[in-house]
Amino acid sequence: MDIAKNPGKRLRAYIKRHQKLTAKLSGIGFIWPGNIQRRYITCGKPYCACRKDPKARHGPYAYWTSKEDKKTVSRLLSTEEADLLEEWIENRRGLEKIVSQMKDLSRKAFKTALQLRKEEQEE
Ligand SMILES: [Zn+2]
Repeated sequence: MDIAKNPGKRLRAYIKRHQKLTAKLSGIGFIWPGNIQRRYITCGKPYCACRKDPKARHGPYAYWTSKEDKKTVSRLLSTEEADLLEEWIENRRGLEKIVSQMKDLSRKAFKTALQLRKEEQEE
């Protein structure tokens, strides 16, 4: 029977895909909010070359920024902090992608699961 016409098979396919996503979730490491930006800055010393030459600006300096209670917070990071947090922020993006896929999948599964319940009640 065509899988599209068989809600039982379709739901089992959704469950399988969902299980794959939950397996991926369990492999995600530490997560961190916000983003890291690397910026070059001018120092303000009157005779420093950075005043006139953009290539002589200092940096890059890594800044972590995040929104907390609608306010953007920003903090200068050391290279070690930035390297580690970049990994953790990447993990968080991966997590968000998986959660978004789970939501999409659940939306599809909802109709099928509802259809199956109705059919069971009618029998
Ligand atoms: Zn300077």
